[in-house]
Amino acid sequence: MTPLEDAQAFVLESCPPLEPITVSRLDAGGLVLAEPVVSSEIVPPFANTAVDGYAVRSADVSDAPVELLVVGEIAAGAAPDREVGPGETVRIMTGAPMPPGADAVVMVEDSERLGVDDAGVERVRLSAAVAAGSAIRGAGDDVKIGELLFPAGVQITPPIEGVLASVNAQRVVVHPRARVAVLSTGDELIDDGSPLELGQIRESNKTMLASMLAEAGCEVIDLGVVRDDEDELERVLRGAAGDCDAIVSSGGVSMGDYDVVKAVLGKIADMTWMQIAMKPAKPFAFGRLGSTPIFGLPGNPVSSMVSFELMARPALRRMMGHARLTRTSVVAVTDTALKRTPDGKVHFLRVNGDFGDDGRFHVRPVGAQGSHQLAATASADAMAVVPDGHGLDAGSDVAVLLLR
Ligand code: AMP
Ligand code: MG
Repeated sequence: MTPLEDAQAFVLESCPPLEPITVSRLDAGGLVLAEPVVSSEIVPPFANTAVDGYAVRSADVSDAPVELLVVGEIAAGAAPDREVGPGETVRIMTGAPMPPGADAVVMVEDSERLGVDDAGVERVRLSAAVAAGSAIRGAGDDVKIGELLFPAGVQITPPIEGVLASVNAQRVVVHPRARVAVLSTGDELIDDGSPLELGQIRESNKTMLASMLAEAGCEVIDLGVVRDDEDELERVLRGAAGDCDAIVSSGGVSMGDYDVVKAVLGKIADMTWMQIAMKPAKPFAFGRLGSTPIFGLPGNPVSSMVSFELMARPALRRMMGHARLTRTSVVAVTDTALKRTPDGKVHFLRVNGDFGDDGRFHVRPVGAQGSHQLAATASADAMAVVPDGHGLDAGSDVAVLLLR
């Protein structure tokens, strides 16, 4: 058996990042930066007020309450047209530029309008003393010119899209989404809703894997169910290799006589067949058809899922440029014993977790753990990593991989 880390390293090494492309910021959401983003603008572009209120000389309000002359008004989007002199103030709205002369803002909640007198002079009573700089957002206090905002390898999230807009980054250099063909194989698989005859089961893996690919950010090419027929499988795989960045297939990679994926890929591709020291998902195949990586996942649905998570997903993320390849892992507490027998494998138990009153993340296995029992696994939100040995007692620390 191959240790999991060795199998992962082997696969990752064979899946280099896809050639970067330049795209409009508007099309960049979810893609991964291939070059760092350095700002060519400052944010905010000018010093402005953080509150609605009155722009003042702070020395004028040190003995608050005080009365000041209101000599103007600046709305967001307007520019100041005069200086604020001693004894004067300007009414100002959040986001408006600070007028020259003023060095602080008294918020509107600390003001009382005294009205306009017969001479047309308006006054306001300000009841709060404020320090110089109070309620002012300095020019460039979010982003400076030349600042490294985001390094290569970062995925463009919605807030990052907002930052790109705020610094007027019109185009970004990113890795493209991997275009990935997915298929399942097996004469027993029915995917058209027709009644099952004895020996037939409904297809589930391709449906699941297509969504896992989409969730990972891939463009999915659904090749459907392919019969256990060598010629048909060869035709489908060759077509996909010519058209896609990677191929994910499920089924037919273990030791059975009808494991035609093994027969066909063994003939047309450069494959490595592995028995990985883990449970579930021990059988796994990886190779290249031409230059296209192929992930041969096992057919048992839970194995297919776990194999995708641990073998295919990190490699596809590498192809799409992610600096971070794996799911988040945390140290949790197991509420139940996780007993097992030594078999040379690391076991991945599907679990659910919650934060306990002790502030720690507590996990419990979902009911059924068989590799054909996808229904139970489907409700899990994490996998507990139980190393080879006799397992863990209730209350033990356990490493957990968060699936969502
Ligand atoms: P295989 O890896 O082809 O030997 O399949 C192992 C087990 O997984 C068998 O019980 C198959 O019927 C089942 N299986 C294979 N592919 C799928 C699929 N796409 N959906 C549901 N079950 C599958
Ligand atoms: Mg099969």
